[in-house]
Amino acid sequence: MNMLARARPELVALKPYASARRSGFTAPIRLDANESPWPDAGTAEAALNRYPEPQPERLRERLAELYAVAPTQLWSGRGSDEAIDLLLRAFCRAGHDNVVGLAPSFGMYRIGATVQGVEFRAHALDARAGFALDAKALLAHVDAATKLVFLCSPNNPTGALHHAAIDTLATALAGRALLVVDEAYIEFAAVPSAAARIAEHANLAVLRTLSKAHGLAGARIGTLIARADIVDLVARIAPPYPLPTPSVAAALAALAAPALARTRQRSSWLVRERERLRDALGACAGIVQVWPSAGNFLLLRCVDAAATFARLLAAGILVRDFSSQPGLEGCLRVSIGAREHNDAVLAALATEGR
Ligand SMILES: *Cc1c(COP(=O)(O)O)cnc(C)c1O
Repeated sequence: MNMLARARPELVALKPYASARRSGFTAPIRLDANESPWPDAGTAEAALNRYPEPQPERLRERLAELYAVAPTQLWSGRGSDEAIDLLLRAFCRAGHDNVVGLAPSFGMYRIGATVQGVEFRAHALDARAGFALDAKALLAHVDAATKLVFLCSPNNPTGALHHAAIDTLATALAGRALLVVDEAYIEFAAVPSAAARIAEHANLAVLRTLSKAHGLAGARIGTLIARADIVDLVARIAPPYPLPTPSVAAALAALAAPALARTRQRSSWLVRERERLRDALGACAGIVQVWPSAGNFLLLRCVDAAATFARLLAAGILVRDFSSQPGLEGCLRVSIGAREHNDAVLAALATEGR
């Protein structure tokens, strides 16, 4: 079944804003967009007086190559955050529909749903079970008004990988709800991306980002991967120029072969460093548990999270305190940094309790 049948009908019918860059015409003298004629701002390859292409072809092709999908199967915007927001807007009617997600998980699904006036149904994961996912129990939250199911895998902040549940969930939700797999950290996990599976599942969407492994959080480039009809709907309701010219230039540079090779090397280094840190943190007094992680971070349970947080802060190190979140009592999340940063964490905690 075509998933557009589950999208907001008034948006499927919407004629998109006809921006100058969408007219399909080009000419040497461009007087169609009320731009300044002087390209002084910016650089030679990225003059800033012109509006950018909505989806620059070269970027689209490079991302399609990187993610091994067709260019028509992806849409990029200001981080995966924007893709999450647009999926919620495209599918969910305020005050009527609902979405389902994990708890604990990335906070933007709930916030985006709330902004859209849509109920967020949380499926609680149990720390004592290693935050493992029971697909059947998650599906119990789904009803006729469920439009999206967010599956963050590797999950932030638990680090748990849930890719094994994708086929079961997508099959169970077929024709009813879109399964949105957020792969922000997939580069640090030992499983292939779910992007290839959109061929089997019409109701599967995958989110990728250049913010984490590719080191471009400041450029804000996130990508939605889905069947072309879903991508097309999102593109039609998106703001006319979601990709700033300097960000596109930065992304193209990061996607050139030498930069990609360096990214892959750094990702595998971070994975090895994560395991070194996990072992070392597990031996620190004051730390009760360090969960296995498929991301570039570790979730720790402390005897006294506030004390450990304060000790690290006093050493000049900021980590994320999750201890007030349900199910994450005593928990801190530590990103894997450069070697000297990670050693500073270990040095600060080695003296814990003395
Ligand atoms: C960091 C993060 C994102 C945000 O990605 P952007 O592309 O920077 O917006 C998305 N999902 C998860 C789970 C994240 O942790």
